[in-house]
Amino acid sequence: MKILVLNAGSSSHKSCLFDLAKDNSDAPNPLWRAALDWTHQAGSVELSASGGGESVQQVLPITDKAAGIEAMVNTLVEGPTQVLGSLAEIDAVGHRVVHGGRDYVDSVRVTEAVKATIQRLIPLAPAHNPANLQGIEAMERILGDTPQVAMFDTAFHARMPEAASTYPGPYDWVEQGIRRYGFHGISHQYVAQRAADMVGQNIADLKLLTCHLGNGCSLAAVKGGISVDTTMGFTPLDGLMMGSRSGSLDPGILIYLIRQGGYSADQLDTLLNKESGLKGMSGLSNDMRSVIEAMDQGNAQAKLAVDVFIHRLRREMGAMMASLGGLDAVVFTGGIGENSSLVWQRACAGFEFLGLRLRDDLGRTKDDQDIAAADSAVRVLVIHTQEEWAIAQACLALG
Ligand code: AMP
Repeated sequence: MKILVLNAGSSSHKSCLFDLAKDNSDAPNPLWRAALDWTHQAGSVELSASGGGESVQQVLPITDKAAGIEAMVNTLVEGPTQVLGSLAEIDAVGHRVVHGGRDYVDSVRVTEAVKATIQRLIPLAPAHNPANLQGIEAMERILGDTPQVAMFDTAFHARMPEAASTYPGPYDWVEQGIRRYGFHGISHQYVAQRAADMVGQNIADLKLLTCHLGNGCSLAAVKGGISVDTTMGFTPLDGLMMGSRSGSLDPGILIYLIRQGGYSADQLDTLLNKESGLKGMSGLSNDMRSVIEAMDQGNAQAKLAVDVFIHRLRREMGAMMASLGGLDAVVFTGGIGENSSLVWQRACAGFEFLGLRLRDDLGRTKDDQDIAAADSAVRVLVIHTQEEWAIAQACLALG
C-alpha cells in the first residue's frame, strides 16, 4: 500500500511517501520526501525533493499554495526523484490537521462533513486549519477520489478528564468551547506507544511523561495509554517556554499591557507567539543550539533564557507527575528532546529524589535509547518522533 503524507503549514509544506504492508510495525524510511519553503524569497517557493537515491532543489516562481503542492507531488512521477510510474499508484493520503476541536477523538476518513468541521474550527486555529484544509483540497484536485485521512493534533488529548481540560473562568466558557485541547498529540501518542514497546510492557499498565521539546514545546501525562493532562491548552501558546512563544504567563500581564501600553490583540499575538520564549529572552534566536552556544560564551541574557526554559520545564514535569500519580518513564522527543544532553541532565536533576538517575555516558544516537542508569527507579527514553509514520499508520488502520 502506498501512502502519501502531507503536513501543510502556513509557511511550509512537508510530504513523504511510504510503501507499507499490513504487518509493518517498525517505522520504515519513506520512498520519497519533499518540502516547500514559502519563506525563502517573496514571489517564489523553494522546492526540495529526494527519492530513488537522488535529490533536487529548485526555486519556482509560484505563489499559489495549491500550485506549489502540485509541483511538489509531480516530483514523485517525473525528474530525478521519480519513484512512481503514475500518481494513480497512491492508495491513500494522510494529513496532519492541527485542530479537531471536541469533534474528533480519533483519525477519520475525509468527507465533506469532515472538511466542513475543519473549516468551522478555523477560529480555534487560525494559522493552521486553513492551511490543512487547503492541503486536503489540493490533493483532491490532484488525485481525484483517492481516500484521504485526517489525523488531528488535538485528538490524543480529547479523553482528558474534565478537571484537567476546564479553565476556571465563568462556566459559560465550557459551552463556548474555551477549554484545554492540547496539541502535538500525534507525537505524544507515537512516542508513548514506542516507549511501551521499548520497556516491553503493555501501555495500559504504564504511567508515562512525554516531553515534546522542539521549536514548540509541550508535555503530556499518559496514563494507561490515555493523555490525562497536557501543558498546551486552548491554543499552543499555553504551558512551557518555547522557541518564540512565551508559554503560560500571569494573564494580568496582558491586562497591564493593554491598559498601560495600548496593545491591540494583533500586537499581543505577535509579542507572545513570535517575540517571546528563547528568542525574546536571549535577544538572539529561537534556536536552542544558538542560545546554548551564546550561553557557553558568557552571554548573560542567553544564560537566563536557558535557566528559565529549564526551570519551567521541571516545574511542568512535576505537575504532570502529580496528574499521573506515579511515573514509570520520562520520554524526550522533538529537536531539543532528541539531541540536547544538557536539557536531559538539567531537567532530570530535579527528580533524583524519586530515584531517577541518568547514565554517565550521555550522547546523541541515531537510534532511540534509554539514557537512565541501570539502577534508576524511572526509565528515561530518548525517542525520535515519527509523526509522518504515525499518520501513515492511521491511513492503514482506516484503509
Ligand atoms: P523541531 O521543532 O522539533 O525541529 O526542533 C527545533 C529545535 O531543536 C531548535 O530549537 C533546535 O535548536 C533544537 N535542536 C536541534 N538539535 C539540537 C542540539 N543538538 N542541541 C540542542 N538543541 C537542538
